[in-house]
Amino acid sequence: MPTEPTLDADSPATGRIAPAIAGGTHVGVVRRVNQDAFGLFEDAKREETLLVVADGLGGHRGGEVASRLAVDLLGRNFSLGDGDPPTRLVQAIESANADILRHANRERTLRGMGTTVVCLLLGPNGRAHVAHVGDSRLYRLRDGSIEPITEDHSLVATLVRQGVISSEEARTDPRRNQILRALGVRNDVEVDVAPLEPRPGDTYLLCSDGLHGLVDDDAIHALVHSANDLDAAVADLIDAAKRAGGTDNVTCVLARLPGSARPPAGHPDASAGAGAVRGLLDRPESE
Ligand code: CA
Repeated sequence: MPTEPTLDADSPATGRIAPAIAGGTHVGVVRRVNQDAFGLFEDAKREETLLVVADGLGGHRGGEVASRLAVDLLGRNFSLGDGDPPTRLVQAIESANADILRHANRERTLRGMGTTVVCLLLGPNGRAHVAHVGDSRLYRLRDGSIEPITEDHSLVATLVRQGVISSEEARTDPRRNQILRALGVRNDVEVDVAPLEPRPGDTYLLCSDGLHGLVDDDAIHALVHSANDLDAAVADLIDAAKRAGGTDNVTCVLARLPGSARPPAGHPDASAGAGAVRGLLDRPESE
């Protein structure tokens, strides 16, 4: 169920970002198993908050196990190590990848499982980073508009970038479940990591493709904008995905930074880099 814990109070000495947070997940209306998972973690000492959404793939219990493992391992690993936040994020994801792969190789019924992951790390002094693998997304809602921050590691996203198909065609393309990168599939994993420049009043949305594949960006923006609070926004987003067919598990995590948003100031450019095509990972259409 959605929850909206308000994290620890601002520390004026460090400029700590203390966002309001809400998250929720739903199996949808078609599948019998929810292979999505999400987590909210805090490292009080480092004054860091980590938000994670993962979308599992693989038959039997595989996808469910992989996404849960990814979230739990990232929650445990993200504050380990001494590097800067992006280095620690990448190391935490690489370590989770190795652990999931080991798990899959040990248990025959879990072989072939994998998961996407998208992480938002909010740190002190207004610093924030995003890291992702696969097609779960981070969006930023600012100045009355919504912008995808991550670039999907999927076949259709690559084809759109290459001009082979349009974004409209991508929404219904039969290959839209084919992702190019996942955790737990190979010994190495290529992680996209990038700094963000958060502003007061920004809202960030992490979600699985059970939302962004069924509800378009403008509708997502309108629902978050019109909701009374973040709990209501999460519930409204999940309802919208269900009304749009609910053919996939749906997961959303929202984080709103304190302070008021600035007035509209145009549309910033999308920021992620192009992903290499390294092979396809087929996700089943349904359970
Ligand atoms: Ca999915």
